[in-house]
Amino acid sequence: MAEEKRRVGVIGAGMGGVCAALWLQRDGHRVFLVDPANPGEGASFGNAGCFNGSSVTPTAMPGVVKQVPRWLMDPVGPLALRWSYLPSILPYLVRFVRSATPGKVRAQARAMRPLVGPTVPLVRELAKMAGAEELVHQRGHLYVYRSAESLAKDAFAWALRRENGVEIDEFDADELRQLEPVLSRDYVRGLLVRENGHTSNPLGLVTRLFELFRRQGGEIVAARALGFRLDGRQLTAISTDQGDVAADAAVVSAGAYSKPLATVLGDKVPLETERGYHLMIRDPEVMPRIPTADADGKFVATPMDTGLRFAGTVELAGLDAPPDWRRSQILLAQGRRMLPGLAAQHAEERISVWMGHRPAMPDSLPVIGPSQSSPDVIYAFGHGHVGMTAAPMTGKIVADLLAGRPAPIDIAPFAAARFG
Ligand SMILES: Cc1cc2nc3c(=O)[nH]c(=O)nc-3n(C[C@H](O)[C@H](O)[C@H](O)COP(=O)(O)OP(=O)(O)OC[C@H]3O[C@@H](n4cnc5c(N)ncnc54)[C@H](O)[C@@H]3O)c2cc1C
Repeated sequence: MAEEKRRVGVIGAGMGGVCAALWLQRDGHRVFLVDPANPGEGASFGNAGCFNGSSVTPTAMPGVVKQVPRWLMDPVGPLALRWSYLPSILPYLVRFVRSATPGKVRAQARAMRPLVGPTVPLVRELAKMAGAEELVHQRGHLYVYRSAESLAKDAFAWALRRENGVEIDEFDADELRQLEPVLSRDYVRGLLVRENGHTSNPLGLVTRLFELFRRQGGEIVAARALGFRLDGRQLTAISTDQGDVAADAAVVSAGAYSKPLATVLGDKVPLETERGYHLMIRDPEVMPRIPTADADGKFVATPMDTGLRFAGTVELAGLDAPPDWRRSQILLAQGRRMLPGLAAQHAEERISVWMGHRPAMPDSLPVIGPSQSSPDVIYAFGHGHVGMTAAPMTGKIVADLLAGRPAPIDIAPFAAARFG
C-alpha cells in the first residue's frame, strides 16, 4: 500500500483512465474520473478488442515510405489522407519516417514488449475484480496472408516479435482451413499467436470496470479538463469547463485529446490522431472463432457478443473532420472477401459503423511518466494502435509512480521529453 493517500483526478474515462483509476484505488487513494462523455465512448468503444501482447512492432517500419504512395493511390487501401490536412500533419510525418530505421524499430519493440506482454493476465485480473471474466477470451490472434510474397514483406516484423519472446505457430493453406474453416481459400498462410486475447465487448468491458470503480467509492466529474492549478510544482486542482476541482495528483489519459493538457505543463508532444473505422454485422452468417487480421488489408475481424466486427485502417484527417463512411464500406467489401460465407447484401438495420481516434505518436511509443512542471501530474496517453492492450500495465505504472515506487518496467523510452 502507498504511504501517502491522495485525492487523484484521472482525466479521461477510456480504457486507459479506468484501468489507472482502479489500480490507484487499490493503493487506497480517493480517485475521481473527469470526462464530459460517458465512460468508454472514445476510441475504447469501437476498436477491434484485441489484447495482443505480441504487438511490439511500430507503425513506422523500415520501408514504410516506399509503401505509402501505393497505399494512398489505392482507393480501398489501408491508408487515406485528407490532402487539406497535409500541412498540419507534415511535421508528424517527418518524425514518423525518421523513426523507421531498423535500429530505432528494434529499440521500440524492446521497449513495448514489457508494456504489452503481460496484457492478458492483467486484464483478466481486472475483469475478475469487476465480475466480467466472460468478456475476456484467450483464443490467440491469427494473421492471414494471400501469398508467400506478402508474408515475406512482413519478415522483419515477425523476426522482431520472435526476438522479443513471442511464440508463433505457422499454418499452411490446409491447416488454416482446419483451424478457421470460414476463411477464404485465397489465404495460403496463417500465423497464430496463442498468447493473445480479446474482449467480445470493448464498451461492455470498460463499463464493467467503471462500475467497479463506482462501487469502490470512485466519483465521476462530468467536465472537460482544461488545465492545472499549481502551487510551485505542487498540484492543487484540475481546471475544467465546470470550474476547478481540488486534487493533489492527476493523470492525463484523455487519449487523442491529451496534447493541450501536456502543452499547458510545458511538454510539447507530437500527438496526432490516426483515425480508424469499424463496421459491424449483427447476426452474421459466419464468424471466425479467433480474431483474424488480414495482413495486406490491415484490418481485423473480431467475433463479438453483438456481432462480427471488422475494424482497422488509418485515415489522417485530424480531430475535427467529419467521418468518411466510405472507409467503413471498404471494410465490409474486404470482410466479405475474407469470409465468403457472409451474404452479399445485408439489411441496413443489421449494419452499424463507427469512426474513432487512435492517440498516435510518430514512434509508436506512448507517453508515460511525470510532467515537466509537476511530479504530481502523470501522463498516460499516446498508445496508438495498442491502447486497449497497454492500458492495464500503463495503469499499474501510473499507480507506482504516484506512490513513489519504482515503475515495474523501464519507462525511460516513454518520456515526454524524448522529443526535445
Ligand atoms: C479501428 C480501431 C481499432 C483498434 N483496435 C485495437 C485493438 O484491437 N487493440 C488495442 O489494444 N487497441 C486498439 N485500438 C486502439 C485503442 O482503441 C486506443 O488506443 C485506446 O482505446 C485508447 O484508450 P484511451 O483510454 O487512451 O482513449 P479513449 O478511449 O479515446 O478515451 C479518452 C477519453 O478522454 C475523454 N476526454 C477527451 N478530452 C478530455 C478532456 N479535456 N477532459 C476530460 N476528458 C477528456 C474522452 O471523452 C474519452 O472518454 C484500435 C483503435 C481503432 C480506432
